[in-house]
Parts: sequence; structure tokens; C-alpha cells
Amino acid sequence: MGPPGAGKGTQAVALSEHIGGAHISTGDIFRANVANETELGKTAKKYMDAGQYVPDEVTNAMVRDRLAEPDAAAFVLDGYPRTAEQVTVLDDILAGLGASLDVVLELVVADREELIQRMLKRAETSGRADDTEDVIRHRQDVYASETAVLLPIYRERGLLVEVDGVGTIDEVQGRIFAALDAAVPQA
Ligand code: AMP
Repeated sequence: MGPPGAGKGTQAVALSEHIGGAHISTGDIFRANVANETELGKTAKKYMDAGQYVPDEVTNAMVRDRLAEPDAAAFVLDGYPRTAEQVTVLDDILAGLGASLDVVLELVVADREELIQRMLKRAETSGRADDTEDVIRHRQDVYASETAVLLPIYRERGLLVEVDGVGTIDEVQGRIFAALDAAVPQA
């Protein structure tokens, strides 16, 4: 977990390789559907372009299907859950699979302007319709109001590990692997 621009996508790819699990990014799955012009993509695009969350029932159904696939025996969820409803549904999905979360990693980047500058830099090459400055700012607000409030839930469950997200990609990756190895010794 962590705000837009914290580096979740980059780090989640490396982490999934580290643990030998599937990288499941709801944003990536939505973007693939937009590119392929599927019905799901058409629904999601309206929300994504505005920097809003895709409705929970759409997102949850997609994650439920993805986690049921055979390669998801071990997984890194990237960008999910993002709402209180998604936390509840994820609990239900995992219970149905006899699975559970080992750890919830939060990439901490407290400086909102640093995040916005990182995203504006990414925007130069990303080609993403939601990487305009207005939408970038709005996505920070949505994270603060909808998603940051979920962190205490996982903290109370003893699953939350905060990792400093300021530094080079390699530095942050090293912190994540160290934090993971301490929290989940068998990983
Ligand atoms: P991301 O690539 O994680 O920044 O996600 C890009 C966009 O996809 C978000 O701004 C949302 O519109 C949508 N999205 C991704 N994950 C979720 C989620 N868990 N719930 C709702 N919308 C999501």
C-alpha cells in the first residue's frame, strides 16, 4: 500500500520475483482491459481517466477471479485493497481459498509534493491518460480519504510493516526485502 507515486508498481514486480509469486496489479489489469477495449475496460476507463476509483463490485469481482487462478498460490497484491469494502471482500476471498495475508507493506512517502513531482516526471513517458497534473492531485486526495484510512485496520491485525519509500529504487527494494524477511521468515 502507499500513495500514487510511492513506487508500488516497481517494487511489487521485484517483490513478486523475490517470493516467486504472481504480481497482481489492479491498475495493470484495468489498463490491459482498456487497451483491449473490453466491456470491463470501457467501464473502468471513465473512472480511471478522472482519477476516481472504479466501483468496488467491478474491482472485487476481477480480483476474485484473478486470485482463483493457479499461479496465484503466492501473490503480491499491488493497488488492492483501496477501500473498506475491498478489505472486507478480500478477507472473504482469501477465507474461501484457505489463504491469508502474511504481511501488508506500506511504502511511506509523506511529502505530497515529492509524490506529485515523481508522477509528473513519470507522465513524460507513461502515456497514461490519468497522469495529468489535475488528475494526479486528485488521485492523492482520493488516496488520503479512501485508502490511508485502511492502514490502521492492518496495523491492528499486526500485519502492517512501514517501509521508508524515499531513496533510490535499489535502496527501497533492499528495505522491503529486509522488512519482509523479518516479518515473514519463511518468505
Ligand atoms: P494504479 O495503476 O494502481 O495507480 O491504478 C490506476 C487507476 O486504476 C486508479 O486511479 C483507479 O481508477 C483504478 N484502480 C486501480 N486499483 C483500484 C482499486 N483497488 N479500486 C478501485 N480502482 C482501482
